Amino acid sequence: MRYSETFIPTLRDDPADAEVVSHKLMTRAGMIRKVAAGIYTYLPLGWRVIGKVEQIVREEMTRGGAQELRMPAVQPAELWRESGRWGVYGKELLRVNDRHDRQFCIGPTHEEVITDLVRGEVRSYKQLPLNLYQMQTKFRDEIRPRFGLMRGREFIMKDGYSFDADEPGAEATYRRMEEAYRRIFSRMGLDFRAVEADSGQIGGSFSHEFMVLADTGEDDVVSCTACSYAANSEKATSRVAAPESRPTPPLESVETPAVHSVEEVAVFLKTSPDRLIKTLIFDTADPEADDPAAARKQEADRFVAVLIRGDREVNEVKLVNHLKVTAARLATDGEIARLTGGPVGFSGPVGLKGVRIVADHSVKALTDAVSGANHQDRHHVHVQPGRDFPLADTVDLDTARAGDGCPRCDGTLTVQRGIEVGHIFKLGTKYSQAMNATFLDPEGKKKPFVMGCYGIGVGRTAAAAIEQNHDARGIIWPMAIAPAQVLLLCMNMKSTPLVEAAEKLYTELEAQGIEVLYDNRPERAGVKLTDAELLGIPLLLVMGDRGLERGVVEVKERRSGDVTETPLADTAARVAARVREALTSRA
Ligand code: ATP
Ligand code: MG
Repeated sequence: MRYSETFIPTLRDDPADAEVVSHKLMTRAGMIRKVAAGIYTYLPLGWRVIGKVEQIVREEMTRGGAQELRMPAVQPAELWRESGRWGVYGKELLRVNDRHDRQFCIGPTHEEVITDLVRGEVRSYKQLPLNLYQMQTKFRDEIRPRFGLMRGREFIMKDGYSFDADEPGAEATYRRMEEAYRRIFSRMGLDFRAVEADSGQIGGSFSHEFMVLADTGEDDVVSCTACSYAANSEKATSRVAAPESRPTPPLESVETPAVHSVEEVAVFLKTSPDRLIKTLIFDTADPEADDPAAARKQEADRFVAVLIRGDREVNEVKLVNHLKVTAARLATDGEIARLTGGPVGFSGPVGLKGVRIVADHSVKALTDAVSGANHQDRHHVHVQPGRDFPLADTVDLDTARAGDGCPRCDGTLTVQRGIEVGHIFKLGTKYSQAMNATFLDPEGKKKPFVMGCYGIGVGRTAAAAIEQNHDARGIIWPMAIAPAQVLLLCMNMKSTPLVEAAEKLYTELEAQGIEVLYDNRPERAGVKLTDAELLGIPLLLVMGDRGLERGVVEVKERRSGDVTETPLADTAARVAARVREALTSRA
C-alpha cells in the first residue's frame, strides 16, 4: 500500500462528540466516519482491521467445528411472533413494513432465522451436532448509541448457533466454543477475562462474557486474586462476614433528630453501619411500556421494599432478575411517603404494610439491628429480622466489591473495568420449543434441538483493542489486527537515492509477504512521524539520507519506542522474522 494512493483522511483534532479514546483515535486515524448516531462508514484502514478480526474469528470458529453461512439482515415478523419475541423485544428492534404492509425487522440477532432454517432441513439425530455462524451487520436501536464502534446501532457481529441432540452434546459444543473464544482473543493479543455471566433461568455455568480489560469499559469484572473465579458484577457473589451475633433485646423506637445517612445514624446510635438495615423502595414499572392501563393494573405489586445491610449496595440486575421485571428504579420521595407513611431516609421493614419485602442474605444474618421507623426522625433499635418483621423472601441482592472474600476460596476479590467483546450462552430448548424445531432421536421420538449461541462484536473488539493499547500520540495495534504490519517511512522524497532505496525495500518486504504501508507522500518528516504514531502500525522503518550513507535503516517499535538499526540489505528478512514471531507468539 502506498500512502499517497490510499484514502487515509487523518485529523488533527478529536471529533467533538467523542468521549472515549477508541472513538477519537479511529476517527482521527481516518478509519471511521460517522453517518448518523451509532452508524458509521468504515474507511479503508478501518476496514482492514475489521477484516483481520473477522479472519481470526473465522479460523478459530472453523477449528472449533463451526461452519460459516450468511443469513439476511431483514427478517419477517412472523418468525419473531413464533418465538414470542416480537412482543417483548421493545424499542431496540427496528421494525419496518414492506410495500404490501407486511411487517419485518432489521435483525438485531438471528436465533429465529437459524432455528427456522434448521427445523426445515434437519430431520435426524444423525445430522447432529450442527454449528453454524455468520459475520453480519446487525441493527439495534440502542437508547444511547455512543463510544463510536463500541456501542453502535448498526454494527458487525459474528453470531453462531449450535444444535445438539442432548444436554451432554450441547455442553461439549459449549466448551469447544469457550476454547475457540479464548484462542481468538489471545491471538488478537488482548488482555481479557472469560467471566461467568448471568444465564437467566437456564442456570449453571453456561454463560460467559469475554471482557477486554480497559479502564474505559462499561462493565465491572470481579475476579479473585488467588483462584480462577471471575464473574461480571451482575452475577458476582462474595463472602461477606456477618457482624458478631448477640441476643436482641425487645424492639424499641427511638428519636433520631436530623440524622440521615447510614453513617450518621450509626454514629448517633453508637452502632456500626453493618448493623443497620437499609430499606430502599423500588418502583418496578416498565419505563418503556406503551400501555398505561397495563402499567396501572400492575400498581398493586409495582413497589418493592428491598432490605440490605447498611454497608452494602443493592445490585439492581440481581433484583430485576429475581423479581422477573424489566426494570427497577428508586421510588420518588412522594411515593415513599405515600407507601411507608414516613419521609425518605426513615423507611424500615417493621410494621410496613402493603409493600412486598425482599431481603438480601446479609439482613438474615443480623442480630440487634437498627432500621428506619417510617416516621420523621425515628428509628427502631434492637430489631431482630424474622421476629420483628417477616423474612419470607431472602435472596442474594448484594454487589460484590474489591476486598470482599472470594466465594470459591480464601482469596480476596478485585474489580477491574472491562469491555464485553464476546458472549457465549447455552440456550437449551428455549427457541426450539417455542418454534417447534425437532428431530428424531434413535428411537424415532421427536425431540427439540438443544441450542447454544455465540456472539462476538467485531467492531467493538477492534475498538476495545485501542482502549487497551494506545498512548498520548495514538493507537498501538497488536500485530495480529493492525491495518498493516510495517510502516515504511521515506523521510525525504526529494532525495533520488533515498527514494530508490525505499522503493527497493518496499518491494522486498512485500515479497516476504509482509503488509507494508509505504509513506511516500511529499510531506515533511515531522508530519509523517506524527501520522505514523497516530496510525499505530507496530513496526516503523525510518529511512533517511544519513542512514542510507551508512547503509542502515532505523526500526522503531511503536509500543516501546525502542529503536534499532539494521543493515539495509538484511532489513526485509529481519523485519519479516520479527512480524512472524509477533504473530505466532500469541497463537
Ligand atoms: P451489551 O450488554 O453491551 O448491550 P449485549 O448483551 O446486548 O451487549 P449480545 O446480544 O450478547 O450483546 O451480542 C453479542 C456481542 O455483540 C456482544 O458481546 C458485543 O461484543 C456486541 N454488541 C452488542 N451490542 C453492540 C452494539 N450496540 N455495538 C457494538 N457491538 C455490540
Ligand atoms: Mg445490548
